[in-house]
Amino acid sequence: MAKLPSIDPDRYRVRPGSAVDLRRTATDDNGGMKKSDPDVGALAASLNSRVEELQELLYADGRHKVLVVLQATDTGGKDGTIRHVFEGVNPQGVKVASFKRPTEVELAHDYLWRVHRHTPASGEIVVFNRSHYEDVLVVRVHGLVPEKRWKKRYDHIRHFEQLLADEGTTIVKLFLHISKDEQKERLQQRLDDPEKHWKFALGDLDEREHWDDYRAAFEAMLEQTSTEDAPWYVIPADRKWYRNLVISQLLIDTLESLDLHHPENEDNLEGVTIPD
Ligand code: AMP
Ligand code: MG
Repeated sequence: MAKLPSIDPDRYRVRPGSAVDLRRTATDDNGGMKKSDPDVGALAASLNSRVEELQELLYADGRHKVLVVLQATDTGGKDGTIRHVFEGVNPQGVKVASFKRPTEVELAHDYLWRVHRHTPASGEIVVFNRSHYEDVLVVRVHGLVPEKRWKKRYDHIRHFEQLLADEGTTIVKLFLHISKDEQKERLQQRLDDPEKHWKFALGDLDEREHWDDYRAAFEAMLEQTSTEDAPWYVIPADRKWYRNLVISQLLIDTLESLDLHHPENEDNLEGVTIPD
C-alpha cells in the first residue's frame, strides 16, 4: 500500500468567514487514486478497522463526546456514508439520529428543541442524518417561516454549537457535494431498479427544480456557520468510494486528536487471581 497519495481531509474544510462558491468547488475529486486499484480497497479496509479501534477507545475512555453532522442534497449519499464509514463499529457506542419533517409537537416548539436531546453523551459518537440545518435549508428554500425568522438562525446555531463544544463535544460537519448530473443519474437508478423504488419520492423531482435555491442556501450555511470549533467540510461526493475514504480519514484524524486512553482500573489488580 506504499504508493498511494495520502488523504488530506483538511483541504476540504471551510475556513471561518471565507466565501463559498459551490459551482467552483469540485464534486468529483479522486485524490489521485483509482477505484480499481487493489491498494485502494486495502486502504478502505484498513481505515475502517482503525475507525473501529478508535471508537472502541472513545467508548472506553468515556470522557469525550463526538457529533458528526451530515447534510447533502437529495441522493447526496448520507445513508451510504453512514453504512460504509461505520461498518463493523460497535453499535453500543454509535447512534444515528435522523431528522425528518417535524411532527406537530416538534413544530410547536423552537427548532432546536428536538435536536438537543440527541446530542452525544460522554463516550458516544452521534451522527445526525440531516439536522438543525434543515431549518435554514428546506425551510429557507420553501419559505416555511418568514425570512425575518430564519435569518436569525445562523447566529442561534453558531451559539448552540459553541455551547456543545465548550461543554466537551467535538463537532465535525460534512456537506456531501454532488453535481446536478450525478443527482440525475442517481435518481434515474432509483427509478430503474424496483428494489430502489422505496427511496424514490416524486417530491425529489420538485426539489431538483429548486437546485439553485438550495445551492444558495447551502452556501450561506457553509459561510455563516463554519467555525473553529464546529467546522464544515465540503466533501466531494460524486465518487462514493473516495467520499468514504475522506470521511473515514477525517474521523480518524478527529478521534486521534482527542488523546484517548484506556482508563486505569481503580482497584489494585496486582496479584489478583481468578478463583476456580
Ligand atoms: P428523507 O431524509 O429522504 O427521509 O426525507 C426527510 C424529509 O424531511 C426531507 O424532505 C427534509 O427536507 C424534511 N425535513 C427535515 N427536517 C425538516 C425541517 N426542520 N423542516 C421541514 N422539513 C424537514
Ligand atoms: Mg429522500
